[in-house]
Amino acid sequence: MDRIDLHCHSTASDGTDAPDALAALAKRAGLRAFALTDHDTLAGLDAAKRAAEAVGVEFVGGVELSAWVRHGEMHLLGYFLEDDHPGVRAALAGLRRGRLARIERTVELLAAAGAPVALDAVLRHVAGGSPGRPHVARALVDAGHVATIQEAFDRYLASGRPAYVPRAEMTAGECIGLVRKGGGVSVLAHPFTLPRAEVPSIVADLARRGLAGIEVEYPKHDAAFRRELGALAAEHDLVATGGSDYHGAVKPGIEFGKGADGNVAVPYRVLEDLRERR
Ligand code: AMP
Ligand code: FE
Ligand code: FE
Ligand code: ZN
Repeated sequence: MDRIDLHCHSTASDGTDAPDALAALAKRAGLRAFALTDHDTLAGLDAAKRAAEAVGVEFVGGVELSAWVRHGEMHLLGYFLEDDHPGVRAALAGLRRGRLARIERTVELLAAAGAPVALDAVLRHVAGGSPGRPHVARALVDAGHVATIQEAFDRYLASGRPAYVPRAEMTAGECIGLVRKGGGVSVLAHPFTLPRAEVPSIVADLARRGLAGIEVEYPKHDAAFRRELGALAAEHDLVATGGSDYHGAVKPGIEFGKGADGNVAVPYRVLEDLRERR
């Protein structure tokens, strides 16, 4: 029992399991530790931490931030954060206001695209104050415009589709700086979302800005890409991390602590290595 999961989402952002339910799931999956990494909020950390302590699973407070890069968005994970840093809290509250404004615009674009949903029909799925596209996707399913969350992204919400609204408000350097201000370390999330040819130069740039690790083990990374990322991590002295990006029911096929068909297995040593980078 040496496995961990360093990437998951709760109802505090766009996951469907409450923070305390994730701790119970971690226990059932036999995890030694897990990190909660909700989008732009630390609101789930306290409840998850208490529940994890109660079942004897080690807990790491985290967050997932979106940064603007040339081609679009990049995600960074921050670890070893707590919900009591005033500067970090204020910055995240600003990001969440930006999320709400973006969802309002998304709803307008959906109406123009012939798939109207009421703003309230989206917000009823938002339990934790950090609205995102998966909440819009659920409203599109509710309204009968699409059959699945995936279809909602493919037809309307993904980058390049008619209701996509670009959002990231910070640069990667600003994200890394914010996490450091909170006493944490930053890891590049799911690099498969970046243009493949640019991954080496992006990683080199982030490493210069204080990045601590790269998410190598990830459900959508094949063996060749994992080898490439592992080599990049070694080259830039970064920790090779991993996680399932579990979101509950909005991402069917992804199991907490295991990924897709067990294709994610992260040993506890990765957490120790990350901790040394603080
Ligand atoms: P947002 O934070 O509002 O930009 O939404 C990002 C979230 O939407 C991600 O964390 C995923 O959960 C989900 N997502 C993004 N792109 C896709 C996609 N193409 N298909 C399915 N889900 C996606
Ligand atoms: Fe998400
Ligand atoms: Fe992400
Ligand atoms: Zn995520």
